[in-house]
Amino acid sequence: MATLAEEYLTFDNSEGLIDAKLYDMIIDCFNKSYKAICDFYNFGELRKTSIVPAPDYDGVAATYSHEAKVIMSTKYYANHKLDADSLTHEWVHVAQNYDNYNPGWLTEGLADYGREKFGIYNKEAGWSLPKYNEKQNYTDAYRVTAAFLIWVEDNVCPNIAKTMNDKIKRGEYKDECWKELTGKTVEELWQMYADANKATA
Ligand SMILES: [Zn+2]
Repeated sequence: MATLAEEYLTFDNSEGLIDAKLYDMIIDCFNKSYKAICDFYNFGELRKTSIVPAPDYDGVAATYSHEAKVIMSTKYYANHKLDADSLTHEWVHVAQNYDNYNPGWLTEGLADYGREKFGIYNKEAGWSLPKYNEKQNYTDAYRVTAAFLIWVEDNVCPNIAKTMNDKIKRGEYKDECWKELTGKTVEELWQMYADANKATA
């Protein structure tokens, strides 16, 4: 039986631009997590996707969602040879496949939520969610928002991340969704998160 990567991922490393061990880790991540990512973010539909090593790209990695194409910076990964699960973050974007990546803080928070939930080598990469501090806000996106979403799920409303993903996907997201689903505005939820962390600090 073909692996998920054989069936759904095109990743040509014939020029050796990506470290061979990292390449294998990325394939392993894909095989272990891509189905779960698509179940969570794309109503179970597996999209064919590609990874293209990009020597001229100065960021880390980026997704062209409508083409289901991910580029990864050869410069960055030459120095971050264990950061395979940064691709897990990108595969969430592939699965999100939103018409509008809006609000951006939430779509990026959901991507790092997925990395936390479905990632395989986060520990090896030294990647983890941050603890709360007063300089943060829920609009910070990425890891800060991911940590907040997990707290909301554990303490207020289970499944909020998937519910919000599905709402953005259907074009039904609005700020009022937080109140409708949890009884609190997102600002009130953030304040609860802050207070809970201050209390235990
Ligand atoms: Zn992202």
